[in-house]
Amino acid sequence: MKIEELKSYEIKEHRFLKDINTDAYVLSHKKTNARVVVMPNDEENKVFYIGFRTPPKDSTGVAHIVEHTVLCGSEKYPIKDPFVELCKGSLNTFLNAMTYPDKTVYPVASCNDFDFKNLMDVYLDAVFHPNIYHEEKIFRQEGWHYELENRDDDLTINGVVYSEMKGAFSDPDDIVERQIMNSIFPDTPYGVESGGDPDVIPELTYRDFLDFHSKYYHPSNSYIFLYGNCDMAERLDYIDREYLSKYDEIKVD
Ligand SMILES: [Zn+2]
Repeated sequence: MKIEELKSYEIKEHRFLKDINTDAYVLSHKKTNARVVVMPNDEENKVFYIGFRTPPKDSTGVAHIVEHTVLCGSEKYPIKDPFVELCKGSLNTFLNAMTYPDKTVYPVASCNDFDFKNLMDVYLDAVFHPNIYHEEKIFRQEGWHYELENRDDDLTINGVVYSEMKGAFSDPDDIVERQIMNSIFPDTPYGVESGGDPDVIPELTYRDFLDFHSKYYHPSNSYIFLYGNCDMAERLDYIDREYLSKYDEIKVD
């Protein structure tokens, strides 16, 4: 099968990029309007990512907490920490997830075709069918929770992202950069802290956290990227069949 023969995608643009010696397509998934860029070439280190626009409206760190929690088990892969298992057991050459001030991306890479397909499936199932809706404890573990070791101790707050951001907020460079951003871009996503301000993180409710995922983790709000030496038409067909085709287009502000 060729990319041109796929019924579920429309080719918006197709040209050869001489600078990086690759063929390149910009596609649109017809049913959801998911945007897809495909670069078939002879690079053995294959790359896939899916990204979503995730502009935060406050400094609760909701985008960052969603990023952590979707990698804590999904419908097809209901284990506690698929991300850690993949780090240990897969042949990946890159595996991570990053929250930016306005987007969240989930990139993987591997030189092994079978491994690459597995990584893609774990990541796609993670972002679209995470277990966060059934298990509040995932939010509590990665986001924030109260802690009390002994009856007479003071009640404290803990959580993976909460602790991570306490570290980030004690770094002088980070503090200066944040102040500059907040002053130049007030009232925009760049004026708040997408990673989460430790003073504000505990204001995030489980409900608002789930709403953020429902709103932004939709194919209509996604960008998908494929690069390297693999059967691109087969990969695109699989992405459509297993995930995208199950959704209808929505408008995401
Ligand atoms: Zn983090």
